Amino acid sequence: MSKVKVGINGYGTIGKRVADAVKAQNDMEVVGVTKTRPTFEAQTAIDKGFSLYVPEDSLKAFRDAKMPVKGTIKDLYKAAEIMVDCTPGDVGEKYKAEYEAAGIKAIFQGGEDHSLTGISFNSTANYSESWGAQFSRVVSCNTTGLLRTLNPIDKKIKIKNAYVTLVRRGVDPGDSKGGPINGLEPTVKLPTHHGPDVKSIMPWLNINTMAIKASTTLMHLHTVVVELEKETGTDEILNIMRTSPRVKLIKSSSGIKGTAEIMELGREMGRNRSDMYEIVVWEDGVKVVGKMLYYYQAVHQESDVVPENIDCIRSMCKMEEDASVSISKTNKSLGIRQ
Ligand code: NAD
Repeated sequence: MSKVKVGINGYGTIGKRVADAVKAQNDMEVVGVTKTRPTFEAQTAIDKGFSLYVPEDSLKAFRDAKMPVKGTIKDLYKAAEIMVDCTPGDVGEKYKAEYEAAGIKAIFQGGEDHSLTGISFNSTANYSESWGAQFSRVVSCNTTGLLRTLNPIDKKIKIKNAYVTLVRRGVDPGDSKGGPINGLEPTVKLPTHHGPDVKSIMPWLNINTMAIKASTTLMHLHTVVVELEKETGTDEILNIMRTSPRVKLIKSSSGIKGTAEIMELGREMGRNRSDMYEIVVWEDGVKVVGKMLYYYQAVHQESDVVPENIDCIRSMCKMEEDASVSISKTNKSLGIRQ
């Protein structure tokens, strides 16, 4: 079977993880990654065996740094069938016309608007909507986290209203700029964009979101309050979560009090970069009172969208029609149990 040829534009937090995940599959391959400057990340990409493609006006800088370059970003379009655009938010949209002109497919990330592609992607909620599409968008880390738990609950027990408060990490661990380094910053423009973003995939869902930026780099933490259409029990909700893909139930009694221990768990599990692809829910923090459901979930912003990008490639390139087959294939390759 010939492998689908994937190019990665933007080898940063998300791009380098997607590149490793593509490399771990047996039905697709990385034909090249792009870097704009000859940084240590460009060097590690070369060391891992990825071919480097750079903007035309960066060729000299890479030559001066003695870093071997295979060609320009436009040359990569000739080698790739699909580009996974992992450039910073709002930069991806500038590349869309180039992908279009080259006649190749492209996946954008959550930093771009839904209107750029008209299709947004989540593996469990709407895998088939990106089937054969030229462009799709894997929604943001927080939106992916909300869809992973809310969609299966809505499928089994209809949701009347969902109210979510997101405590967001200030910056990613590798970022020395930004903040806050002290204090908490509420997003005062309400509702925050997260609720509407969930609706780009579940348009029928009544969801309202608020967000607070916190001085932490490790993970986001959501408090979720759901009004269900009918009364249910905590066990029924736990059973749904237990069987939902990429949702991991943990107990505070096992010593996992917060996001620090979750990241430590990722290290102990031997995960690549200690990544936690699953949305982590505290089992002993799930509570149902009548029609009201309450729970906490933690989102590893650097990695939860990585398996979704792999499934999105399979859907767009018509490689696997059955979402559950693609999900389990991706999971197995990344060491995700369910
Ligand atoms: P990043 O800044 O870590 O990486 C972006 C990469 O793109 C860098 O290597 C940068 O050098 C490169 N780049 C910048 N301008 C470029 C250009 N014009 N052409 C080619 N490459 C260019 O960003 P990130 O955190 O990986 O985010 C990428 C996308 O993923 C964004 O849409 C973001 O919203 C989304 N996302 C980020 C996170 C997160 O928490 N980091 C989570 C989910 C989704």
